[in-house]
Amino acid sequence: MNLDFRNVIIIGGGISAHTAALYTARASLQPLILSGDNPDQLSLTTLVENFPGFPEGIQGPNLVDNAKKQAQKFGAEYKNAQVSSVKKIPNGFEIQTSENEMFRARTLIISTGASARMTGIPGESNFLGRGLSTCAVCDAALYRNKNTVVIGGGDAAMEESMALYKFAKKVTIVHRRDEFKASQIMQDRVLKLTDKISVMWNTAPIEVKGEKFVNGLTVKDVNTGKETLIPTDGVFLAIGHIPNTKFLSGLVELTEEGFIKANGVKTSQPGIFAAGDVMDPRYKQAITSAGTGCQAALEAEWYLEKMHAEGKY
Ligand SMILES: Cc1cc2nc3c(=O)[nH]c(=O)nc-3n(C[C@H](O)[C@H](O)[C@H](O)COP(=O)(O)OP(=O)(O)OC[C@H]3O[C@@H](n4cnc5c(N)ncnc54)[C@H](O)[C@@H]3O)c2cc1C
Repeated sequence: MNLDFRNVIIIGGGISAHTAALYTARASLQPLILSGDNPDQLSLTTLVENFPGFPEGIQGPNLVDNAKKQAQKFGAEYKNAQVSSVKKIPNGFEIQTSENEMFRARTLIISTGASARMTGIPGESNFLGRGLSTCAVCDAALYRNKNTVVIGGGDAAMEESMALYKFAKKVTIVHRRDEFKASQIMQDRVLKLTDKISVMWNTAPIEVKGEKFVNGLTVKDVNTGKETLIPTDGVFLAIGHIPNTKFLSGLVELTEEGFIKANGVKTSQPGIFAAGDVMDPRYKQAITSAGTGCQAALEAEWYLEKMHAEGKY
């Protein structure tokens, strides 16, 4: 148990956490980063082509490893630990891990990301990154002149379909109901793109098929039970994201979907800042996560300066 107050503890292990670590370490705040058991999102992908500074692209795992090494070079301290709860205490916060370790910090940066909601159908996990994607904005350009399927019916599915429309030969939206949940304006935009986009209503995905890469999706008509194989080069899941915020219970305000509500990167709890996908249901990109990681670090630094000026430490 180490109950000395740290200046800043960063919870998370993705690109937003490493960026916050880099900035706070360079500001001599000696950050401690508590990274959980699961891999971050960039470690699950291959070539990232839209992170500035890498004209040939960079492998996702290399991008995060480099960012971590860069932060460590300036003294950021990493510990493998899954945070199970956070409690407000006078002049700071107490953090408990699933191994029953305890830490205290004056400021916190929450960078715990979000996980794409999966359908759980057979084949899905085997083909993740090999024709099965959870991010059309990231991967659409790889599907130029190819056949694609989008699973979902909300705003995210409409956005994914429009991102694919620019590149793909064909986009088939598979939706289990007879109407979309997406906002009317988004539906209208998508449904008028009939040259490439079609919808299979009342249809549920059953199995992702393929060999090395995806080559088909089996679907079922939910009314008749009839199964059909859709030949496709790519399957895009757009059924939402689950933000990793359970451990925060009641400490900061969350949206209905569980994302951290933030004003810039400030949460409803003074001293707690948020960065990356955990507070961003809209952009969900590596560069925006790095950007908010930087902002959260600077806000934490300024918050500490104010605490110090007020004689709180
Ligand atoms: C397959 C795929 C491909 C992608 N391709 C691109 C792309 O080409 N370009 C692009 O810009 N974006 C891409 N993205 C999106 C990008 O990866 C994310 O926007 C970005 O990685 C989010 O970073 P983050 O730091 O917010 O969170 P994450 O990467 O989600 O990392 C969160 C980390 O926090 C840890 N954590 C969670 N809970 C706890 C806890 N309680 N205690 C301790 N640690 C915890 C997790 O284990 C994880 O390591 C892709 C995403 C995926 C899934």
